[in-house]
Amino acid sequence: MNFENSIAFAKQLDEKDLLKDFRNQFYIPLINGKESIYFTGNSLGLQPKSTQDYVLNELEDWASFGVEGHFHARKPWMPYHEMFAAPIAKIVGALPEEVVVMNQLTVNLHLLMVSFYQPTKQRYKIICEAKAFPSDQYAIESQVRFHGFNPADAIIEVAPREGEHTIRTEDIISTIEKNANETALVLFGGVNYYSGQVFDMAAITKAAHAAGAFCGFDLAHAAGNIELQLHDWNADFACWCSYKYLNSGPGGVSGVFIHQKHIANKDLPRFAGWWGHTKETRFKMEKGFEPIPTAEGWQLSNAPVLSMAAHKAALDIFEKAGMENLIAKGKLLSDFLLFIIDDLNNSAAERLIEVITPKADNEKGCQVSMLMLQRGKEVFDALLQQGVIADWREPNVIRVAPVPLYNTFTDVFTFGQIVKTILNK
Ligand SMILES: *Cc1c(COP(=O)(O)O)cnc(C)c1O
Repeated sequence: MNFENSIAFAKQLDEKDLLKDFRNQFYIPLINGKESIYFTGNSLGLQPKSTQDYVLNELEDWASFGVEGHFHARKPWMPYHEMFAAPIAKIVGALPEEVVVMNQLTVNLHLLMVSFYQPTKQRYKIICEAKAFPSDQYAIESQVRFHGFNPADAIIEVAPREGEHTIRTEDIISTIEKNANETALVLFGGVNYYSGQVFDMAAITKAAHAAGAFCGFDLAHAAGNIELQLHDWNADFACWCSYKYLNSGPGGVSGVFIHQKHIANKDLPRFAGWWGHTKETRFKMEKGFEPIPTAEGWQLSNAPVLSMAAHKAALDIFEKAGMENLIAKGKLLSDFLLFIIDDLNNSAAERLIEVITPKADNEKGCQVSMLMLQRGKEVFDALLQQGVIADWREPNVIRVAPVPLYNTFTDVFTFGQIVKTILNK
């Protein structure tokens, strides 16, 4: 599409937007009494207006039924998590039996490594991206130590080449090939939180499997953002949080994918809990763990219903909007943003902003990371004062994520105007 840097053009895109009515289903935070330009849906998605009712219903049912709510609540608590299998499967490209919603992200990352990081003396290395989200780094390091290995030796990080900001797929593949005999696990993000780079998960999985390693993904910045086909890509496992693009509230429940080929495998090591035990005999409360032969078999605890109620409210909106429509609008929003940033650079005496997010459609989602070549922190602070909520990452990156459910093309245009005014001062 040929973009124009004008309010008329932005408004025209908003008018044509299939998803334009969804914005009104969210609370937009106010700054100085005015709706902010909220560009941090990649960090904490906004609250759907329906969430309060969903949560309140559970509080009411708890008040009315007490323990009987497990069976008699409007949405009975006992099978509560089962509601998520179908909608989540669509979002991550999985079969319903391959997914379950449980715990929180870092907890699940650990649980999945218990099953899929089984190091031996010869094969004990984990290949991951350099600058992975810190929680993932800590999880990986502590798993390696737990098994008696030294992180400095056992963890191989693939980094961008000198002078580049993103990691080349060919470098990931060649690192896997070079370490084929020693690699137990390849564990990547779906989207790097810092650069916004989308990794080629199909190619990474293929290379990992060719090397004889398991392959898993942390989809915190991918779920609800980009197209995922976990089943077809043949990934062994994945996990994600629900509070970023999935708008399910601070600290919301996490989701897990375990490929069909593994779900009935009782020989995989796992940490067990009663909610993973076969439903038919769970309440006999007997000795001897018999896992459910689906992803549910990895559950530990009974469902955190209050937090899951918020998840349900958000996923009902995703069902209505449709992942394909969301992906299409997300791409158009970020392409428009890239165009606006280009225009800012072109109209200035010297380049002000270097975009470190890849431009290609298959390598980016909703997020654009702007490396500020001058006055970065000052621009960031001024943005907030003028009603733009973005995200600052040291040393000098501003991350902005216009998301399809509640951001508009006018948001993106206005953002450009505000940055321009600040930089012209
Ligand atoms: C947001 C994020 C987390 C956060 O982990 P929690 O356990 O939900 O606190 C972890 N990893 C990645 C890649 C993230 O983007």
